[in-house]
Amino acid sequence: MRYISTRGQAPVLTFEDTMLTGLARDGGLYVPETLPRMSAAEIAALAGLSYEDVAFRVMRPFVGESFTDAEFGDCIARAYAGFGHAARAPLKQLQDNHFLLELFHGPTLAFKDFAMQLIGQLFQTALARSGERVTIVGATSGDTGSAAMEAFRGLENVDVFILYPHGRVSDVQRRQMTTVSEANAHALAIDGTFDDAQARLKDMFNDFVFRDEVRLAGVNSINFARVLAQVVYYFTAAVALGAPHREVSFCVPTGNFGDIFAGYLAKRMGLPIARLVVATNQNDILHRALSTGDYVTQGVAPSISPSMDIQVSSNFERALFDAYGRDGAAVAQLMAELKAGGFHISQGALEALRSDFASGRASEAETSAMIARSRGEMGELLCPHSAVGVHVAQDFLGAVPMVTLATAHPAKFPDAVEAATGIRPALPARMADLFERPERVSRVPNDLTALEAHVREALAR
Ligand SMILES: *Cc1c(COP(=O)(O)O)cnc(C)c1O
Repeated sequence: MRYISTRGQAPVLTFEDTMLTGLARDGGLYVPETLPRMSAAEIAALAGLSYEDVAFRVMRPFVGESFTDAEFGDCIARAYAGFGHAARAPLKQLQDNHFLLELFHGPTLAFKDFAMQLIGQLFQTALARSGERVTIVGATSGDTGSAAMEAFRGLENVDVFILYPHGRVSDVQRRQMTTVSEANAHALAIDGTFDDAQARLKDMFNDFVFRDEVRLAGVNSINFARVLAQVVYYFTAAVALGAPHREVSFCVPTGNFGDIFAGYLAKRMGLPIARLVVATNQNDILHRALSTGDYVTQGVAPSISPSMDIQVSSNFERALFDAYGRDGAAVAQLMAELKAGGFHISQGALEALRSDFASGRASEAETSAMIARSRGEMGELLCPHSAVGVHVAQDFLGAVPMVTLATAHPAKFPDAVEAATGIRPALPARMADLFERPERVSRVPNDLTALEAHVREALAR
């Protein structure tokens, strides 16, 4: 399996190099050159298998020669062993023909654990083989950072540094980063906003001397290995509801378009998915783009579903690449226009996108109302992100079963849940002592030179 860039100008890579590289050198995102297909018989054969076995069968063709069957199977086993539910991604019925896919049973209570835990194991396996070390640096508004700290803690060939905006993440999110005790994991509270953190991260990657010196690697959601790991639960959920003999639809709380793009890949691989519904909060650039064809940035308005507060949706570039007939030059042109504020999606590309994706948005009031309603009518306490999904899904319920992805545990966002329902959700027992564990964090200035010095010093210790 070979991987190519959405902008057509970067070297073609193997799975392993794609994973270790992250962003392509031409600024694009890596995608498989061709997608493996699964026949109806192969999909039917997934019924009744463990999550790990489905994961192996669905992902194996993408990995190619980069890992042996035994290595890949071991990585999958270790990745999901720490989950708090035997099914890993259990399905619950919410309403008539409407189901909730619970993706919050991992160690940091959000769906990002599915991908991050697996790539932690894949990184370690690849690096141990070559004897190399890498330094992972990430910027987070909350969930990605905690998932990364948890996934890379204690791994021998990796150091991980996570930048988060000081004072701007929830207490649970902060503690999930700062209470990791292993010496290779470093939480950095930057004096600035999430945009500052992300800008300094980009600066570090653009400082090639520093980048090569510490062997910088990225694990943000544009890393194809992360998207791939998320394809698996679309298969387990659809098969549980009757695929390949019956169609299923999915509604996905969306920010950077990584999770829903995984659903699109599942569909292209042969899973009978009727509709993929993009559910956005008030930061609705994707809903506007799919409705009007104009992809125009408007700035971010902070919401009660902060992990979906985005200005531009980086993985959308992968969907555009296919919608434009895999024309890398056309995608590069759109991305250049985006720098100046936005672009218009051509009629043909828009029709292609609409044949796979529908969309909807939930305002702040609608999100809160759905948290309260689902608690009352469905007996389900939802996190605000999941509530955005359940709200948007209401417009698409019908004969085809709908699965809404529950992307985080309600206890990760207790203030919003309590404001809507009066109930303060409790953390699961296995992390009930989160607020007693000691915190370890370095406060860092919003300054590239100081940050690089900090990373160098920590690595030298
Ligand atoms: C990251 C995240 C999302 C958005 O997922 P994308 O892949 O960026 O679209 C939604 N909900 C929660 C809880 C998240 O952490």
